[in-house]
Amino acid sequence: MEKLCILIVEDEAAIRDMLQLVLEQAGFDVRPVAHVQAASQEMESHLPDLILLDWMLPGTSGVEWAKRLRRNAAYSDIPIILLTARSEEEDKVLGLDSGADDYITKPFSPRELIARINAVLRRFGKGEKPGLIKVGGILLNPEQHKVEIDGQPINLSPTEYRLLEFFLIHPDKVYSRSQLLDRVWGRDSYIEERTVDVHIRRLRKILAEYGRDAMIETVRGFGYRFTALA
Ligand code: CA
Repeated sequence: MEKLCILIVEDEAAIRDMLQLVLEQAGFDVRPVAHVQAASQEMESHLPDLILLDWMLPGTSGVEWAKRLRRNAAYSDIPIILLTARSEEEDKVLGLDSGADDYITKPFSPRELIARINAVLRRFGKGEKPGLIKVGGILLNPEQHKVEIDGQPINLSPTEYRLLEFFLIHPDKVYSRSQLLDRVWGRDSYIEERTVDVHIRRLRKILAEYGRDAMIETVRGFGYRFTALA
């Protein structure tokens, strides 16, 4: 199978080199560049399967470029993960409006990076056989679409499955209903935000059977957070 290609746009050489090393070790074909202009040139000769895009770049910023790519039919279906050193919630919302498909806040672990990349690639129907995801006694097998809690197989609807998978690989962060809609249901879905609550309730009910319902916290006025250690 041909390797999946990831375009890295990062101006800090040390971070760019680190990303390249980690992604090459994970089996990706990596194209590292330092700014948007070089990234655009690279895209003309070879379309990547995913773009890992730094937020703060000299010249055109990562957010600005992401917005442009989303408006360009030739590039609009390439998934984008934004790298950012900021962690304020407003910044996250701003980034999501840019059309990025996920975020990674620096510093991050290589494991977290690879898990995020693989999850986004899967959502776009790309990617190789994913590994098992295990958090707090919950074991998710992305290849077989099966979930076990404490060794017991559990039944989930496709939506609850995707929601749980999203939470397992994005623990301890708060997501608004609209962010969950974008990232679990997809950018192009036109579903009411209330639908998120309905599915959260169902997922909690299932987790409650195993004493795990406290893992999904309601954050008043914002949304939900999945806590691995509840
Ligand atoms: Ca930078």
